[in-house]
Amino acid sequence: MTASAPSDTPVPADSTTPAESTLLADLTTIRVGGPAHTLVHPTTEEELLENVRAVWKRGDDWLLIGGGSNMVISDDGYDGTVIHIATRGIQVVSQDETSLSIRVQAGESWDGLVARLVARGWAGIEALSGIPGSVGAAPIQNIGAYGQEIASALDGIDFLDYSSGELVHLSTAELELGYRSSVIKSGRAGLVIAVHLTLTASPTSSVQYQQLATALGVNVGDEVPVQQVRDTVLALRASKAMVLDPNEPDSASCGSFFTNPIVPEHIARALPADAPRWVIDEEPAIDVAVPLGETPALPPAPKSHKVKLSAAWLIENSGVKKGFRLPGSRAAVSSKHSLAIVNRTGASAAEVSELARYIGARVLGEYGIHLQPEPVGVGVELS
Ligand SMILES: Cc1cc2nc3c(=O)[nH]c(=O)nc-3n(C[C@H](O)[C@H](O)[C@H](O)COP(=O)(O)OP(=O)(O)OC[C@H]3O[C@@H](n4cnc5c(N)ncnc54)[C@H](O)[C@@H]3O)c2cc1C
Repeated sequence: MTASAPSDTPVPADSTTPAESTLLADLTTIRVGGPAHTLVHPTTEEELLENVRAVWKRGDDWLLIGGGSNMVISDDGYDGTVIHIATRGIQVVSQDETSLSIRVQAGESWDGLVARLVARGWAGIEALSGIPGSVGAAPIQNIGAYGQEIASALDGIDFLDYSSGELVHLSTAELELGYRSSVIKSGRAGLVIAVHLTLTASPTSSVQYQQLATALGVNVGDEVPVQQVRDTVLALRASKAMVLDPNEPDSASCGSFFTNPIVPEHIARALPADAPRWVIDEEPAIDVAVPLGETPALPPAPKSHKVKLSAAWLIENSGVKKGFRLPGSRAAVSSKHSLAIVNRTGASAAEVSELARYIGARVLGEYGIHLQPEPVGVGVELS
């Protein structure tokens, strides 16, 4: 197999559009959101930095949008400057027979990047095929699917830090990536300008997710050609309307609307026997400090586990089934995936928000567990 680098030729992108003519609904995959006070579409890094620095200097409210696939924007729109990031370009930082390091500008399409890398024989992000959105947003919630996360291929990001105004490189460790989380998602404000990734030259990929293994007819841990992993992930996603498809009304969504809750073991144990549960870590017993020669007065503390639950199971078993909608509402639970809220018929952000809060209340009432919304709410309450 010959592994070659993706092209480093920037792809031309749209230029600026007057704010008045654009509803933010047109920039989001769930298709809600009123107008922006001001809207800019920087297409080069220079323009992007210039725009962002100018807005910060003026002290205006600001909002960054990449692919708009993980946000719900108010029907009132946004009374500040919206920066729609359209910067494109992939630069090869280093390459040898075994690995490829690249710097990718924030506005590149995530799935476009995965497709190009897989086609050229580079492994590391193939199970993340079909995730909509931009490369710049991918580390913000450490995108993950089918047993992979961007964390494992990430070498850090180029970041314009809001608090210092400095352009810095943040290493993967500094991003403190977790399950759908990072320091940026937790509140470190700024702009991801570019993402650094390292891929491996490998004809195959180790399958790390049971549903994917079943679809491929292999066992977890088996090696499968990277292109076959991508194709199978795309087919699995399509069956749940989890890829953007203009012909699939259930794909007008933010993907999974809730993260899988992570709870202490005793809460997980109290759920019915058929509730899916995954132990995700094991905290060591607490050390007891005693003077040398003395016996500890306390027995070792019992080990405590954290357990990940299935948000989809909790929702369905709270009585909210696929296709559910509140009376008179145009927002619905996807008919193909109980974790997705979809806008099949011109729903408003208020209707999406109402349904999200209703689902959260049902799960809380039934199981005492708070569901956390995965998308970012802009001027709307999602929980
Ligand atoms: C059908 C569907 C399936 C999905 N499946 C998955 C999945 O399997 N796994 C998964 O993890 N996610 C999934 N998602 C969610 C979403 O695609 C990802 O979170 C994606 O990374 C969001 O990218 P975006 O460019 O659309 O971000 P946006 O929605 O544009 O922005 C999301 C947040 O990031 C901020 N932001 C955007 N760009 C930047 C930047 N350059 N610098 C700083 N902040 C920025 C925004 O201000 C906002 O707060 C899915 C969504 C859909 C619609």
